[in-house]
Amino acid sequence: MKILVINCGSSSLKYQLIDMENESVLAKGLCERIGINGSMLTAKVPGKPDYVVEKDMPTHKEAIELVMAALTSADHGVIKSTDEITAVGHRVLHGGNTYTESIVVNEDVKKVIRECFDLGPLHNPANLMGIEACEAAMPGKKNVAVFDTSFGMGMEEKAYLYAIPYEYYEKYKVRRYGFHGTSHMFVSREAIKFGKLKKDAKVIVCHLGNGASVSASIGGKCVDTSMGLAPLEGVIMGTRSGDVDPTILQFICNHEKIDVNQMLNILNKKSGILGMSGVSSDFRDVGKAAAEGNKRAQVGLDAYDYRIAKYIGAYTAAMNGVDAICFTAGVGENDKECRKRICAYLGYLGVKIDEERNNIRGEERVISADDSKVKVMLIPTNEELAIARETLALTTK
Ligand code: AMP
Repeated sequence: MKILVINCGSSSLKYQLIDMENESVLAKGLCERIGINGSMLTAKVPGKPDYVVEKDMPTHKEAIELVMAALTSADHGVIKSTDEITAVGHRVLHGGNTYTESIVVNEDVKKVIRECFDLGPLHNPANLMGIEACEAAMPGKKNVAVFDTSFGMGMEEKAYLYAIPYEYYEKYKVRRYGFHGTSHMFVSREAIKFGKLKKDAKVIVCHLGNGASVSASIGGKCVDTSMGLAPLEGVIMGTRSGDVDPTILQFICNHEKIDVNQMLNILNKKSGILGMSGVSSDFRDVGKAAAEGNKRAQVGLDAYDYRIAKYIGAYTAAMNGVDAICFTAGVGENDKECRKRICAYLGYLGVKIDEERNNIRGEERVISADDSKVKVMLIPTNEELAIARETLALTTK
């Protein structure tokens, strides 16, 4: 059984075709600059050279058609026809307050995705376009929506409600949703399996990439997560501020004579490690600048580690303990110094990193010492595989 996984951005489409017999990737690729001049598809098949097609893709529909042509091509393809695809799984950013789990797409599901456009203005329209493009290209094939917000729907009211007038929750469903849900779900479950933890283990996952979030879960069920109504709250990210005092918005708007939309743009795109350091949103560049004596880069990294350590402390309190702490995504999987610095805050929990075990990148591994009171693990995230598993489960039962 083969599952096609689709992840649409506003001008991009990523895909993977996964053979679910052994969960191997048969083909993957990326369509870039959809709706912009110079659009192209780069298709990758293990053991073959990359296949690059430069062709106009005015919408996601043409992109999907090109992906289908690449997958079934006699020279570069991996399947004879799209009949070999069991179902298609789509990453969808926001399922609002409606969907607590992944679901097979029908007209009602599409309506909800549409209703959540204002909660996910960059992603939800593109996600819906991807679904509709697949429906047009492969009529009758089942599409599954896997929501980034589903994992956070497991939280209790005390964790997801903001202390603002309740009517805003009632009227507009203003609440904490949390994002990177597919990654948090995958990593927390994988940690229990790989770390041979008890079924109801208390796990904290630090998803540290360009976007970053921390979650707490018990037995794979979300207790709390750092992102909120939108993917802006929480820890410091590449370009996003994470938590700020909302008064700062009004203060800067008044002084700079800008409106709240411009201010949100600054908090989303010009803040975080980029804004603090003035160097880059890429943690490798900031690390290099700090090593060369750049003070702002150093304080940016210090603040980054400190904020993550604070979240780990808060989530340990929320769960009354922690069995495992996991690192994942670009920074979490690749930056051993960052993992070490964050764990250095956690001596009070009995966390002890084993330097040699920690000297790895992108591999599933326990990196804590044998006498550490909490297991610390590196668990590479695999959102595509998580989406494929959900899709298979929903379409073959
Ligand atoms: P992601 O969003 O998960 O793809 O993560 C992307 C981020 O990972 C980039 O912005 C980099 O800052 C970071 N990253 C990747 N490799 C390294 C590394 N070796 N050291 C530090 N940061 C890294």
